[in-house]
Amino acid sequence: MHELSLSVSLIEQATEILKQESGGRVLALTLDVGVLSGVSPEALQFCFPQAAHGTALEKCLLKINEIPLLVYCSDCQAEEQVEGPYPLCPSCQGVDVAVRKGREFNIVSMEIE
Ligand SMILES: [Zn+2]
Repeated sequence: MHELSLSVSLIEQATEILKQESGGRVLALTLDVGVLSGVSPEALQFCFPQAAHGTALEKCLLKINEIPLLVYCSDCQAEEQVEGPYPLCPSCQGVDVAVRKGREFNIVSMEIE
């Protein structure tokens, strides 16, 4: 399950930030997870506590902001939120779209004790 290795790398990132902030324990971690990131928020919630065991993030609250897919269509200049994994323009069904949001997988904020 790749959410476990993602959890491990999140904890590494958070630990680095913690060092810079010279903080103690992490109480809460907030993430942006885009629908195109390939990450399942449920699986992440399940794996994270296992990966966090014995680290400064043990028992920390994991908050996940699910970011919907937002595309920009260069045919009709529409910027629209779309459902489903295929970025098609909802206005003109054009395929000449650029993904504006939905690929995020990053730490937004940390609450440090
Ligand atoms: Zn369009």
